[in-house]
Amino acid sequence: MVTRSRWFPLLAVMLCWSILIWVLGTLLAAVLLMNWSSDKDGFDPFATLLAEWMHDPLYWLNMGALVVVLVGSQIIFLLPLLLLRLRPGRPRSLGWSIMLASLVAAMLTVGLAMALMSLVQLLGGWVSDWGAPLYFGLFAIVIDPSEIDRLTFDGDLAFILAAACLFVSWILWGILISLFMRRGQPLNRLRRLVGLLFAGTLIELVLILPLEAMVRRRTNCFCETGSFQALLGGFVAALWLLGPMAFLILLRRRPAWWSRHCQRCGYEKDRNAGDHCPECGWAWTSANAGD
Ligand SMILES: [Zn+2]
Repeated sequence: MVTRSRWFPLLAVMLCWSILIWVLGTLLAAVLLMNWSSDKDGFDPFATLLAEWMHDPLYWLNMGALVVVLVGSQIIFLLPLLLLRLRPGRPRSLGWSIMLASLVAAMLTVGLAMALMSLVQLLGGWVSDWGAPLYFGLFAIVIDPSEIDRLTFDGDLAFILAAACLFVSWILWGILISLFMRRGQPLNRLRRLVGLLFAGTLIELVLILPLEAMVRRRTNCFCETGSFQALLGGFVAALWLLGPMAFLILLRRRPAWWSRHCQRCGYEKDRNAGDHCPECGWAWTSANAGD
């Protein structure tokens, strides 16, 4: 049984982590939303925006909701590993973890497509002609479900198209990541998956930042440009991935437990156990040649 004393440090870590995500999220959002083409030099637009937010109840509401969603989904993503470590003996499904990782991959994929759209607009001189309010649209629907009428049935084609692409690539990534996870041991595969996603996010952000800087110079309202939506998705993905990354790096300091136990059900291996887990039937060696 898990004693109470093991949960208190865990809760303290969660609280500190939420505060860290809150601060980082605020700084990233301020970089994203501040006036990039201000004539004033230095941190002025950044500091002005932060000062404005401190007095805005909407900031506290939105940021609070974002932190709850981010930290909550990070916990869901890592729950199979946490439970395996705290209460070994039962096979843990990775279904939710795969769904969340696929959503991050889908956000990056759609972000890339929207950034390409912005690039085409930039080259053609149509930057302000049509927008793709994907995340703002989804956000509006979450807050007020009647918005779905305005966004979809009034023919906002860019929103419908972007939302459909997000959904389809979510499903496709789900299938791909399920196959990827099956080819190795859960912990090793999750570690590699998170590493690959984080590397992909950083590459995408580095590519999109200069594009966004050029697009912003040619538009008054950047909120609906493809590059801004892509940047928004990339920042959220990066912020989210930090949680699993930190946790998996910490786990690295305790490799002994994971090598002595089945990574699927937590069964303690003995020397005569062979290639398969006697408890859950998981293949320990043949499937993880790549790890
Ligand atoms: Zn097992």
